[in-house]
This record gives sequence, structure tokens and C-alpha cells, in this order.
Amino acid sequence: MDYDVVVVGAGNAALCAAISARENGASVLVLEKAREDEKGGNSYFTAGGFRFTHEGLDDVRQDILVDLSDHEAEGMILPSHDRQHFYETLMKVTRGQADETLAWILIDHSRPTMAWMRQNGVRFIPMYGRQSYEVDGKQHFYGGVNIEAVGGGAGLVEFLLTRCQRLGIEIRYGTGATKLLQDRDYTISGLTVRGPDGYEDIACRAVVLACGGFESNPEMRVRYLGQGWDLARVRGTRHNTGEGIGMALDIGAVPHGNWSGCHSVGWDISAPPFGDRWVLDNFQKHSYPLGIMVNLDGERFVDEGEDYRNLTYVRFGKAIMAQPHRTAIQIFDRKTVHRLRDEYRIREVTKVEADSIEDLAEGIEVDPTKLRRTIEAFNAACRPGDYNPAILDGVRTEGIQPAKSNWALPIDEPPYAAFVTTTGVTFTFGGLKIDETNAVQDLADRPIPGLFAAGELVGGLFYENYPGGSGLTSGAVFGKRAGAHAADHAKRQSGGG
Ligand SMILES: Cc1cc2nc3c(=O)[nH]c(=O)nc-3n(C[C@H](O)[C@H](O)[C@H](O)COP(=O)(O)OP(=O)(O)OC[C@H]3O[C@@H](n4cnc5c(N)ncnc54)[C@H](O)[C@@H]3O)c2cc1C
Repeated sequence: MDYDVVVVGAGNAALCAAISARENGASVLVLEKAREDEKGGNSYFTAGGFRFTHEGLDDVRQDILVDLSDHEAEGMILPSHDRQHFYETLMKVTRGQADETLAWILIDHSRPTMAWMRQNGVRFIPMYGRQSYEVDGKQHFYGGVNIEAVGGGAGLVEFLLTRCQRLGIEIRYGTGATKLLQDRDYTISGLTVRGPDGYEDIACRAVVLACGGFESNPEMRVRYLGQGWDLARVRGTRHNTGEGIGMALDIGAVPHGNWSGCHSVGWDISAPPFGDRWVLDNFQKHSYPLGIMVNLDGERFVDEGEDYRNLTYVRFGKAIMAQPHRTAIQIFDRKTVHRLRDEYRIREVTKVEADSIEDLAEGIEVDPTKLRRTIEAFNAACRPGDYNPAILDGVRTEGIQPAKSNWALPIDEPPYAAFVTTTGVTFTFGGLKIDETNAVQDLADRPIPGLFAAGELVGGLFYENYPGGSGLTSGAVFGKRAGAHAADHAKRQSGGG
């Protein structure tokens, strides 16, 4: 055997799997299709925000936010996020379709896995810029995704790679897995890879597939997500082209989960086809709950204030795809523009500012009469109330469709600001089926011995929508578990356990 465990991919899920397999005594090789200068997969492009269960600030300060000073702690309010709440949020956004077993594994292992990551050198800070508002002199955190890795996704990947290096884990960049190899008894015996010097077979006792979904493959996007999705921008890596899923299906794995669904969001219309390693996730425009969104016909098409942005942004990414030219324009006025998230203040932003609705309409190429009519109708429907962007404040419209259910302030104080967006696809929901040991299931619902999976390419957890911050948590939780189970399997195969 060349290795006990080969991990395919080098994003968050894969690196957690590699660390955990090594901790459990396995010799480990990590294969990464991208060159080193494109390392980190989608995980690199993230804000590094994690959703996990906890009992509030004192709790997380024990073993996760260990670097927070007393002074910083005094200035913040961090609501707890208990397991029932996490479960209800997941089931609410997936309309009860998330796999129960996977859901509870994700939820119950989320907090211990965060502490494990901290022990492995990943440092965390509160998500001040994006998940809190200042109310009465204190930062009030909301929405369940309140802690991020220092340095965001890039920082997260660097912490994990440093740990891998310390543990002596070999990483081969520019080397993609192309085929899984099996013995006659069905057990995984290795894989074929394509590296800088061509094809090579590597023998191993177990494989962990953690090489992302098919979001960067336009042909698969059209085949599974539907017409027009080939034209969507990709928010992250160009390397998640579905090979991991394909290799497993080729040897009889069962397809699982929401193959026609994906995570997608409102994304600046000027963004390039794939993620930009400098701008990162700042092309996203996630402050729409504070204003309104119209299409190129000047019409609103969603309830912008239906819920916290963490619970609506994915559905709205898909809703934008259905608008003329896949375009949506977010509009704010002087009352709210100062509250916009940091991503609105980057140089690479498609923004129009004007002192009248007519001038604004001209700048965004929408019929001024139509836009004025939409805004006047919206303003007339806004009911007064106790406005508070940090809670579901119930400040709503009455008598218009779609309604705005929270944070409905009239758009009537110039200067007005408009931001032009389209849809950016983040990752796909369909993939492989795993059991409680992360073993990939075949068409007869039997585990394929020696094949494990984690991260984006696992199906069954997210359907139609997604609770923000769960992708990294899922990668870490299932990656850690996959690594441990793969190491265990390898031990048994070698007669050692
Ligand atoms: C812009 C953006 C912002 C995001 N923000 C957040 C956030 O704040 N919080 C959150 O929870 N989630 C966020 N997400 C979602 C999150 O990125 C994913 O859920 C998570 O990173 C997926 O991790 P992964 O390890 O499964 O995949 P990845 O990190 O994408 O890793 C997969 C790796 O596999 C490699 N690979 C592909 N094919 C092969 C092959 N054949 N052989 C070898 N290697 C291969 C790829 O090159 C890649 O490096 C965001 C995503 C994007 C794009």
C-alpha cells in the first residue's frame, strides 16, 4: 500500500478529514487538482463564518473564542444558538426535507468540532462587520452565524494547511483524481490520478472524497439545475466540476439529495465568471432586507424582509435567475445606506447614486415612470413601527404584493443608491449518499467498503434553501468524521484493529 488514506480535494472538508485521519493513526495523502496558487477550493473564498450550537458568549469563550478580551466581550451581545433552534432553522429552510440523521450529526457535532478546529490551530473572532448591528452602544449579533475564522476563508485554509504540514501530511497540488479502483470483492484499493506528468495509479486502503460539487461545470449546471444556469456566475473556485461525484457514480454509488437545487445569491453584475481571489465574496450584496429589490421592469418580485438574510438569500439568488436578463437592482435611501454591509463599499461595485428616482432609474436603465410607480406604491404601503434591523421588527407593508414583512421603511430621502446584481452560484446540493460512518452508499443502499465522503459533494442535507454558515460546519463535521472512519477502515484492512 502507498497510503492508508487518500483524501481527494484540499478545501475545508478535505483538510479536516486529512487531519482527523492522521490523528487516528493513518498515513495520509491529499490530492488537489488545482495548482498551489489556486489552493483552498470554495473554502478559500468564504467569509469563514460557521453556524454551530452554543449557549452564548461565556460558553464560546471557553474553547472557541479564546482570544477575545474582556473589553471586547463587554461590548457585545451574543444570543445562544441551541440544537433545537438549529434543527428548526434547517428544517424550515429546507421545508422538512433535510435527512434527519445527517441533520442531527451536523447539529450535535457542530460545537465539539469547532473546539477541535481551535485545538488544531484555527483561530476565531466574532463576525462584527456582517452579522451585528450597533444598538444602544453594543454590538448585537443575530441570525446564528456569528463567529468566523481569523482572515476569513483564506485564513481558515492557511490554519488547516499549517496543521497538515505539522502532522507531516503530504499534499500534491495540480493532481486530480480521475477514477476509483476496486478489488474484485468491491473494496476500494486505490485511485487513478492525473498529475503534471500524466496518469498514475495510487494504492490505498481508503479514499475520502471531499472535492466539491459540480457548480463550476456549465454542462452539468444546465443538465441538473436547468436552462440558463450555464450563464450564472460562479462565486468560488473553477475546479469543482463534479468529478468526485462522477467517479463514485461510475462504481455504483447512488445519487442523493436535491440535484436540481443549488446555493446561489445576489452577486454584482460586473463580477467575472469565476471567483476572484482578491475581491473574494465581496461581490455578494446581502443588505437587501434594508431596502427593496426591483427587476429591469422596475417591479419588486420578493418579500425582501421575509426573514433574516441568512434564511432568504439563497432562495432570492434563484429568484433573480427568473427575472429579465437575470438582473435585480437593490435600492436604498439615506436612512439605510450607512447600514449596508462592507461588501457595498468595494471599488469593484456596480452602483448608481442620484438625488431623484428619475435620475436613479436612468442610471440603472429602468423605465423612470415604472420605477417611480413601484416606489410610490411601496412607500404608501409602509406602516409605522419600532424599526430595528437586528431583530424581526414586524415593521411591514400593508396592501401590496409582494409584501415586505420586516424593516419596511419608505424609500423617500435622497440621495438614493442602487446596486445592480445578477445570480452567482455558490455550490450544488445534489451528490452522494453517506451513512452515519460517512461511508458512500451504493444503489442497493450498501456501503462501498473503503469509500467515504464529506463536504459539498454529500447530498441530503440541503434542499431548495440553506441556513447561512452551514457549509463550512458541514465540511468540518463530516470531514472530521470521514477521516476518522477512513483511518479505522484502513486499520481493519491492514489487520491492525
Ligand atoms: C464566495 C463564497 C462564500 C461562502 N461563504 C461561506 C461562509 O461564510 N460560511 C459557510 O459555511 N459557507 C460559505 N460558503 C460555502 C462553502 O464554501 C462551502 O460549503 C465549503 O467551503 C465547501 O467545502 P468543501 O471542502 O466541500 O469544498 P471546497 O472548499 O470547494 O474544496 C474542494 C476542493 O476539491 C478540489 N477538487 C475538485 N475536483 C478534484 C479532483 N478531481 N481531484 C482533486 N481535487 C479536486 C477543488 O480544487 C477544491 O480545492 C461560501 C462559498 C463561496 C463560493
